Amino acid sequence: MIQQYLKIKSQYKDAILFFRMGDFYEMFFEDAKVASNILQIALTSRGKNSGEDVPLCGIPYHAVDSYLPKLLAKGFKVAICEQLEDPSTAKKIVKRDVVRVVTPGTITQPEYLNPKSNNYLVSICRGKYGFGLAAVDITTGEFLTSQFDSMDYGVLLNEIIRIEPQEILLPYGLEDDFKKNILKKLGYSPLISTYDDWRFEEESARRALLEGLNVASLAGFGCENMSEAVRAAGGLFQYLIETQKNILKNITSLKTLSSGDYLVLDGTTLRNLEIFKNQLDDTQSATLLDVIDNTKTAMGGRLIRKWLSKPLISVDKIRNRQLAVKEFIEKSRETSKIIAELKEFRDIDRILGKLASGNCSPRDIVALRKSLDHIPPILEVLNEFDSKLIIALKNEMSTFDEMRETLSSALVENPPLNIRDCGAIRDGFDAKLDQLRDIKNNTRKWISELEEKERQRTSISSLKVKYNKVFGYYIEVTKANLQNVPDNYIRKQTLVNAERFITPELKEYEESILNAEEKIKEIETKIFDDLVKKVEENMTAIQKTSSAVAQIDVLSNLANIAAENNYVCPEVNDSDKIYIKNGRHPVIEKLFFDEKFVPNDTYLDCSENRMMIITGPNMAGKSTYMRQVALIVILAQMGSFVPAESAEIGIVDRIFTRVGASDNLARGQSTFMLEMNETANIVNNASKRSLIILDEIGRGTSTFDGVSIAWAVAEYIHSHPSLGARTLFATHYHELTELSDVLEGVKNYNVAVREWNDEVIFLRKIVEGGTDKSYGIHVAKLAGLPSKIIERAREILKNLDSREYNEKGSLSILGKKEGEEIKNQQILPLFNKEETDVIDELRNIDINSMTPIDALNYLNNIKKKLEKGEN
Ligand code: ADP
Ligand code: MG
Repeated sequence: MIQQYLKIKSQYKDAILFFRMGDFYEMFFEDAKVASNILQIALTSRGKNSGEDVPLCGIPYHAVDSYLPKLLAKGFKVAICEQLEDPSTAKKIVKRDVVRVVTPGTITQPEYLNPKSNNYLVSICRGKYGFGLAAVDITTGEFLTSQFDSMDYGVLLNEIIRIEPQEILLPYGLEDDFKKNILKKLGYSPLISTYDDWRFEEESARRALLEGLNVASLAGFGCENMSEAVRAAGGLFQYLIETQKNILKNITSLKTLSSGDYLVLDGTTLRNLEIFKNQLDDTQSATLLDVIDNTKTAMGGRLIRKWLSKPLISVDKIRNRQLAVKEFIEKSRETSKIIAELKEFRDIDRILGKLASGNCSPRDIVALRKSLDHIPPILEVLNEFDSKLIIALKNEMSTFDEMRETLSSALVENPPLNIRDCGAIRDGFDAKLDQLRDIKNNTRKWISELEEKERQRTSISSLKVKYNKVFGYYIEVTKANLQNVPDNYIRKQTLVNAERFITPELKEYEESILNAEEKIKEIETKIFDDLVKKVEENMTAIQKTSSAVAQIDVLSNLANIAAENNYVCPEVNDSDKIYIKNGRHPVIEKLFFDEKFVPNDTYLDCSENRMMIITGPNMAGKSTYMRQVALIVILAQMGSFVPAESAEIGIVDRIFTRVGASDNLARGQSTFMLEMNETANIVNNASKRSLIILDEIGRGTSTFDGVSIAWAVAEYIHSHPSLGARTLFATHYHELTELSDVLEGVKNYNVAVREWNDEVIFLRKIVEGGTDKSYGIHVAKLAGLPSKIIERAREILKNLDSREYNEKGSLSILGKKEGEEIKNQQILPLFNKEETDVIDELRNIDINSMTPIDALNYLNNIKKKLEKGEN
């Protein structure tokens, strides 16, 4: 047995091997040591191998669902090795093999999955010109692939952050680079699995997909000519076949995502805008998702996340969603009826996932049927609707009348968890089963009849027919009555006061009961297997229906959210405008109880209102305002209504954000470096159609550096021929308000404040014009800094405001006069020595006394000097 174990284990070195022995999964050697520790179970030993005790621990097979996830949580894989033949009939050692490898990305136990998010296993490969990335959720059957035509790890990183996979599969050759460039910056640690490089070669990858998905070409999936996408998906698919064996029945198609179809929101932006997680404690509270998600089904919950992370860019598609939302708002009575039905749905996709993995229980099938029972009433209500999208969704749904009929006539309403426990199949469904059940159920009656008959026959009134585990049924006669025992009684046991007998008739009956039980199990299992097959035949149609239900759920949910929160339908078009009247921040406005959230307007377009430079004191509301504009755009393009009085949104292709110093310090990059990375990403990847949000860039460095960089970046975004994107730019550098003097598309705005008796009152209103006051000292005072510090700061500010410079051109903090000594003061010269010399020389020359040749020579000299200074 140990030989067999070692042989199998050698094929699954990186996994903990669950070795099935009877009712237990046993673990040996290192696996036993590791697992007993994590699972808190006893470590024992058994037999010897090469003279050493073999460490052993085990778990009951039926408790696998509660133990296995604990190992996964610690980053282990588990290979499940089953007995492949009946031990009682096996001649030698029972045949065993691994039937499945469970990893964090391939777990199917619903108890350990978040119903409202997907559980993705992602694969990545690298090609000559870019990366391929595929993702699969085997619990729902979703299978996606994409490719990035860029060697930039940042792009890949952002995509991974967005998907948040539990496990990442890499070709061996990519492991090191991946760990260096991605894993460190990810912010969490998914399991990394590696796989043979050749599996990711295009030819084998393509072949696996064609065979596995049973198609002649990948054109139907949209990735025929996308090498990297094919490689990533094919590698992943082969890995699944190898580790999950034959459980891929619910993976029936492949979807190709191209970034050209969606408004791109990178990981940084999702984080900065607090779409799925807040930055305070990384939970979902106070996020955009939190505000707009009141979906009723798990399928809808997963879908709204997708819509939110991939808003659309096709005006037609967005309008279709809007019209559907609008209709759900208008027909509120019908909508309530639909929502009441939606509440009754179980997670259909994950039931199908369990079904495909072969561990679906009678309860799951009943739950599936009960869910589908709500389709006809939904369809009936949907008949009242006539928007294009709703009609299309209606047509996607089937009612499965025949299948539901069969399921409900076959299965009882509350079946046992395991089909082997019997009782899942209804009486009257199968004649043979009914007959066997009769035999079993009539045992008691038959026994008491027999007892009565034997009492009369023997005249022993105290005779009893009894049952125990050792003998089965037997007849008990007290000592006093032994003389009346008939000849055909066979003695089995003698007790102090009585003797026990059996009869051939009794034994025959007993046999038939035991047979009946075994037979019942067999028949019930067979019927159940047939039912499962029947459901499997409808897999694709059920998946389609489920997807339509999810969309109905999300659309009706958006309608409810819009009505509840007073949102309006934005006019979405292909213009370059973002005009918002009285827009609000969807999340912040919900946090206000007594105070009122102050709405604000926005005017952005690609011409005169290309760039809003927003100044204003700290805490005035600049960041809130800018995020609000981005959130409104996202909501609009996902098809939702928006928090505003009215809005016109010209399609945005990407939103870029550079907001505040975030938690990235913990990831080992300096804030300034990170800020510049992100800024570089923006200027390199933004297009005219993008929306850019810059919140205080340049903050991480010295003032002069900072203001120079900020100025140059603003100029570039504004004026570069392929850019000119709509930009919101909050800054504490008041110098930047001068940009509007030189750049046609720049408008200055500030957040209004009122000064009153030395106090500052925030009005939260965005108004046109720049400010030259930052009120930082006021805020410092509000924050409780000691008055001595406040007064001293005011004094210094006065010096700076009177623009006193020292002889080297720096602003003088000390207000130092000529000839005074400067202590411990660092001076940053504006020019190097050669430059200063040249300037002095220029001041002193007399042009009138020079010939043109002199002047030319002189210019040449100056140039040489400056060149020297540069080295
Ligand atoms: P800034 O970026 O200018 O420092 P924030 O945008 O962080 O300021 O806003 C500071 C606080 O002001 C927010 O937390 C919020 O409570 C409040 N606030 C911002 N905008 C508004 C608004 N329009 N109406 C009401 N309160 C607001
Ligand atoms: Mg701010």
